[in-house]
Amino acid sequence: MIFTKCSICGKSITIRENDFQPGCRDFEDVSCPICNAFLTSVFTSGIPEAHVDEAR
Ligand SMILES: [Zn+2]
Repeated sequence: MIFTKCSICGKSITIRENDFQPGCRDFEDVSCPICNAFLTSVFTSGIPEAHVDEAR
């Protein structure tokens, strides 16, 4: 899990890497689910999911 904050809309974002297969990892770009701004790149074998964390 990665915790970050969108620099555009200011929302707290939790990124789940969905990493399941060691050795098949690649960099995937993750965008903000609210404003679609680029957040970060994560190194994973799956498709990362970004969720708004309303609790923070
Ligand atoms: Zn945003």
